[in-house]
Amino acid sequence: MAAEREKIYECEVKRRRVRAGGGYEAFWKVKTLVEALADLDTEFRCKDCGGAVKLLGRNGKAGTVPFVEHKDPSDAAFCSSGLLFRKSTDGREARLSPRPVMLRTGLPGVRPDTIALPAFVPAPIVVEGIEN
Ligand SMILES: [Zn+2]
Repeated sequence: MAAEREKIYECEVKRRRVRAGGGYEAFWKVKTLVEALADLDTEFRCKDCGGAVKLLGRNGKAGTVPFVEHKDPSDAAFCSSGLLFRKSTDGREARLSPRPVMLRTGLPGVRPDTIALPAFVPAPIVVEGIEN
């Protein structure tokens, strides 16, 4: 008998939106994995505990639906959508991941939601010199 797998079909994806005061800010948005892959999202986390997840089931085989599972079994053990949590019989309570995936900014000490991303700069157009 195949081992039961944790399959979570919805996740949070990192998105950017225009801020009222200008620039962009990152935020998490709940989507199904099908939508996230169609939108070419690349950063995911568990929508219930914020923990790191692995993306599985996207090999394109007919009938395959993409899903995520927790990378860390201790997240799965205490997340309301975790397989280990749902199978537990000790009456434990769900909690958030102690190591949630953060909106990374690359700037230590700066709150990610306060960072304005630089405006898009188009690549310079190179014009070959014409010799007469
Ligand atoms: Zn979780």
